Amino acid sequence: MRYTLRQMQQTFPDDAACLDFLFKALNRNMAACPKCGVERPGYYRVKNRKCYECKDCGNQIYPLVGTIFQKSSTPLTLWFHAIYLLSVSKNGVSAKELERQLGTSYKTSHRMAKMIRLLMQERGRLGRHGFPIEVDEAYIKGRGKHHNYHDNSTPVLAAVEVGGQIRTRVVEKATLQTAMPFIFENVYKGSTLHTDESKIYKQVKQYYKHDSVRHIAKEFVRNGVTTNHIEGFFSQLKRSVDGTFHAVSPYYLASYVSEFAYRYNHRTEVMFPLLLEKVVRRP
Ligand SMILES: [Zn+2]
Repeated sequence: MRYTLRQMQQTFPDDAACLDFLFKALNRNMAACPKCGVERPGYYRVKNRKCYECKDCGNQIYPLVGTIFQKSSTPLTLWFHAIYLLSVSKNGVSAKELERQLGTSYKTSHRMAKMIRLLMQERGRLGRHGFPIEVDEAYIKGRGKHHNYHDNSTPVLAAVEVGGQIRTRVVEKATLQTAMPFIFENVYKGSTLHTDESKIYKQVKQYYKHDSVRHIAKEFVRNGVTTNHIEGFFSQLKRSVDGTFHAVSPYYLASYVSEFAYRYNHRTEVMFPLLLEKVVRRP
């Protein structure tokens, strides 16, 4: 399924169309006006304001309040275009690339990319479906001139349900103390975990069914136990950080990683409308 740039621009030709979409998404389930209680309320757009008003009582709704667009003076059409570009990209879109495509300043495009990545954060534990969950860590190369590889790279923990979703976390050090809370928060206890034989996973067997695979011996498959799915994710992430972002600081790595995780989780869907829905779904 494809959603083209042309389709997007025809659906959202101007800021009024964008605002209308957000207002409707926000109020899709509104059976009655929250103020006067009239059923199936009719709202009209207030002229020159980013606001809609109930025909019966004058109750006003500002769809952008509490969203990533609230404090922005950038036109909504540019925001939608940026969200579109991030949604169709395979390797991620750098702020520099957004600047080129949208004609905004670097500062603006950098902030937009950062805010859109906030929409891409995902929650919810894995392990509902009874499939094994691979847990592994990788080191992503950072900026700087350190000679020691690990000094200059940031560990990322990940858990992926075979055939399902991924959860990730950027940590300062990959240790038992950082791995266990990550696993508890992202995988239901009692699930089957596949890891390598790293000592950071030595406690998981107290809470999970645990099988390990020996990486050092190049034994990637043992009795059907692998961490191949997660390695596919990590190698794509590394390629993209190298190619698109040219190594990132640990500070920004977390938001890039959540962008990649989101892309992985929604790889079979059209991501653009999913992200627009998340704009108005306030926490
Ligand atoms: Zn009303």
